[in-house]
Amino acid sequence: MSGYILVVEDETPIREMITFVLEQNGFNSVEAIDIKEAKERIVEPYPDLILLDWMLPGGSGVKLAKELKQGEYSRNIPIIMLTARADEDDKVKGLDAGVDDYVTKPFSPKELIARIKAVIRRVSPTLLAEKVEFHGLKLDPVSHHVTINEEALDLGPTEFRLLHFFMTHTERVYSREQLLDNVWGTNVYVEDRTVDVHIRRLRKAISGAGHEDFIQTVRGAGYRFSGKTVQKSKN
Ligand code: CA
Repeated sequence: MSGYILVVEDETPIREMITFVLEQNGFNSVEAIDIKEAKERIVEPYPDLILLDWMLPGGSGVKLAKELKQGEYSRNIPIIMLTARADEDDKVKGLDAGVDDYVTKPFSPKELIARIKAVIRRVSPTLLAEKVEFHGLKLDPVSHHVTINEEALDLGPTEFRLLHFFMTHTERVYSREQLLDNVWGTNVYVEDRTVDVHIRRLRKAISGAGHEDFIQTVRGAGYRFSGKTVQKSKN
């Protein structure tokens, strides 16, 4: 993962254990010991995920979660609450605040990592450096290797990101705007037709093995990456 996880936890041994475990599993982390520090750390480039303790000096984590989930930019950052409370009432409070998941203390490193990966996989799977495979097409985000039926494919950086996004979001239609947000980023200004240009290049690159049909043009809607054959639409 290229970004980082913000760990907001006031108890030093727990915080250190978490950052150690994250590092061991290939995640970068940034630490904060209270609400004030956490807020200072939630700036661009934003964390990919926040591990947020419930009971913090200077305020409750759930209150911060609520604030973040209402912020224009911060609302997209997934939050996992760390809590000693297993009460149903508290869980409801947290869910109302919009948090993505819970880990109840004490937790094992294995459980923590599994929860983090599950949330990231749901929210932004391209962040996980996991190899993806789709009908003979293989992509390795770490080495940037793409193969079709074991044959190497040469892709430009944008086509690579586009393909990675498609392979982790199959069988769904995405508008050009959605593709721009997800592949180019929300702060980048590019015209819609730029998407078409890169789609064409990607199609061409994967056409060698007859895989160009995976990228389907959905009239008036956008594009879909699908393993199901549809009637061929020319674009
Ligand atoms: Ca605490």
